Amino acid sequence: MKIKDILKEEKVHISFEVFPPKTDAGYESVLRATEKIAALKPAFMSVTYGAGGGTSKNTASIASQIQDDFHVTSLAHLTCVSSTKEEVHTVIENLKEKGIENILALRGDIPADTEFPLPNHYKYASELIEDIKQQGDFCIGAACYPEGHVDTEHKKDDIRNLKKKVDCGVDFLTTQMFFDNNIFYNFLYRIREQGITIPVLPGIMPVTNGKQIARICQLSGTILPERFRAVVDCFGDNPAAMQQAGIAYATDQIVDLIANGIRNIHIYSMNKPEIAGAIMENLSEIIKA
Ligand code: FAD
Repeated sequence: MKIKDILKEEKVHISFEVFPPKTDAGYESVLRATEKIAALKPAFMSVTYGAGGGTSKNTASIASQIQDDFHVTSLAHLTCVSSTKEEVHTVIENLKEKGIENILALRGDIPADTEFPLPNHYKYASELIEDIKQQGDFCIGAACYPEGHVDTEHKKDDIRNLKKKVDCGVDFLTTQMFFDNNIFYNFLYRIREQGITIPVLPGIMPVTNGKQIARICQLSGTILPERFRAVVDCFGDNPAAMQQAGIAYATDQIVDLIANGIRNIHIYSMNKPEIAGAIMENLSEIIKA
C-alpha cells in the first residue's frame, strides 16, 4: 500500500525504522529483529540505506520481506550521492520488481575528500525524486531538518530548498530526530507558511546510549535540551536505567505530539524490538483513543 494513502486515515499512525546488516552474515539476526518489530503492527516500516550503496541489496531484501513475509507496508530508503545515475536506476528497477511502492529519496552525506558532485552523479535529493517519478508509480518520501541541515548555513535557505524538493513530487516528509518538541512545532509553522502542505512525520529517537547520542547530535547539529542532558548525565553510565529513561523520554515526546494534533509519528527503533515494544505498550490506550 502507498504510505500517502495510509496517512490519509484519521487515526494515529506509528511507524518504525530498521537498518540493514552491513554483511550477509548479519542478515538473519536483523531479519528476526525486524519480524518482532513488525509483529507490533506499525503503520509501516522503513529500511535505511548505506550512503555508499554497499547495503543496497539488503535494504531491498529486508523491505521486501517486511511486506511479503510480515505483512507490513515497507518504505525503502535510497541515497544517491555515491552512485552513478545508472546504478541508482538499477536499484529503483529492483525495488519495482520486488513490489516496493514507497521510497524515501535521499541525497546522503557527501563523503570526505570528494569532488562534489562527481560527473554523472546527483547533486541534490530533488534530482533523484524527479528520476524516481520517471521510472515508476512510487509514493515518495523525503527528509527534512527542524534544526536546519548542516550544509546550509541559514534555516530560511534550507526551508526554501525544502520547498523546491517538495515541489518535485514528494508525498510526505520525515524529520531528523529532535529532543524538544517546540523545535518541531516551530518548524511546522514555518514550512506551512512557505506553502509546504504535505504530511510531516516527526522522527523520534529513543536514546538508550547516552555517550553515543552526544556524538550523533554533534554531527547532525541536533540540540540536546537541558532536560535531556540531565537524563543522560544521571543515567548515562547505567545501561539498564538509561534504556528505561530513554523510553520514558521518547514516550513523553510522543504523547505531547499526539496531544497537539500530530497523528503520524516515526520511531527510530534501531533494530531493537524491546524498545519498540515498550513504547507501543506505553501508548496502547492513547493510540486507541
Ligand atoms: P537534500 O534534500 O539534497 O539537501 C542536502 C543539502 O543541500 C541541504 O543543506 C539543502 O538545504 C541543500 N539543498 C537542497 N537542494 C538545494 C538546491 N536546489 N540549491 C542549493 N542547496 C540545496 N542517510 C543515509 O546514508 N541513509 C539513510 O537511510 C538515511 N535516512 C535518513 C532518513 C531521514 C528521515 C533523515 C532526516 C536523514 C536520513 N539520512 C540517511 C541522512 C541524509 O542522507 C543526510 O542528512 C544528507 O546529508 C542529506 O540528504 P537529503 O536527502 O536531506 O539532501
